[in-house]
Amino acid sequence: MAGGIAHDFNNILQAIQGYAQILLLDSEEGESSAEGLRAIEKSAQRAGELTEQLLIFSRKLESKLIPTDINAKVQNVEKLLRGTVPKIIDTRLDLNKDLLPAHADPAQIEQALMNLALNAMDAMPSGGKIIFKTENITLSDDEAYSLQWSDKNRACVLITVKDTGHGMAADIVEQIFEPFFTTKGSGEGTGLGLAMVHGIIESHEGTIICDSIIDKGTTISIYLPAYLVSVKRKEPNSSGEHIRPGNEHVLLVDDETLLRSLGTKMLSRYGYRVTTASTGEHALSLLRRSNHDIDLVLLDLNMPASAE
Ligand code: ADP
Ligand code: MG
Repeated sequence: MAGGIAHDFNNILQAIQGYAQILLLDSEEGESSAEGLRAIEKSAQRAGELTEQLLIFSRKLESKLIPTDINAKVQNVEKLLRGTVPKIIDTRLDLNKDLLPAHADPAQIEQALMNLALNAMDAMPSGGKIIFKTENITLSDDEAYSLQWSDKNRACVLITVKDTGHGMAADIVEQIFEPFFTTKGSGEGTGLGLAMVHGIIESHEGTIICDSIIDKGTTISIYLPAYLVSVKRKEPNSSGEHIRPGNEHVLLVDDETLLRSLGTKMLSRYGYRVTTASTGEHALSLLRRSNHDIDLVLLDLNMPASAE
């Protein structure tokens, strides 16, 4: 998907998500429509993440690194797998409850883990085990050296995905991260899975390692830098009950009509006065005429050059 289309597509998804949120705020807890709306909101969010993933191949990979709860990502992947994994494969989680947040892009990590799990499944046609493990690691000098982390922070989050599949010979292991390298038949493998995973981990300044023994299985280890500043986690507030209203005057600038009206609805709901502009020029002229009456400008950074 070309970058431009993806941008438009994301705007549409944002509007879907936003309107679902507005309707959710209006609906009573326990109402059957609330459940449907939550599903719409979730699906739109997921579609947004998918668009991001499609973009990985159309431009240089960019990762938005934020403090990320890797356990939550692993659990998510395991949940998604439940629908796909045949019963003969047993998936297990061995998660450190006190795992440090990693400095990571949540959607990309989820995608990487998904790829690893799919490969593990392919390696176990007659069944076996997939074990996801997370742990906090402080690298020793030697480890930091061999992982080429010597000048980086030594605290990391280690994720391992281990399978009990057919494994690989050493000469195969050497090639698995190359784009288009596959041992699978045409129509079965693209050889892009691990190349993408490798790209993702590189842009996280992490390290990925493969250990494999023929007929015993494969372990893929991913070292990600830990996010060391302690972050207070806030529960997302879907009911909106505890949001403190305001009465300030907000100038909302966005070229998308849908997003302007969505923003206006959301902000006025909490008491803010809202003025909108669809171009930067219009916004500036409103600001000049406002006599300091505007308290905050909310601005879409990615707008087409004005035709006016
Ligand atoms: P694809 O899955 O499309 O073949 P990948 O890049 O995901 O491409 O993997 C490349 C190759 O690495 C696979 O074809 C397979 O030979 C090998 N491989 C990857 N993961 C495993 C695994 N868990 N067990 C055994 N072989 C694997
Ligand atoms: Mg694959």
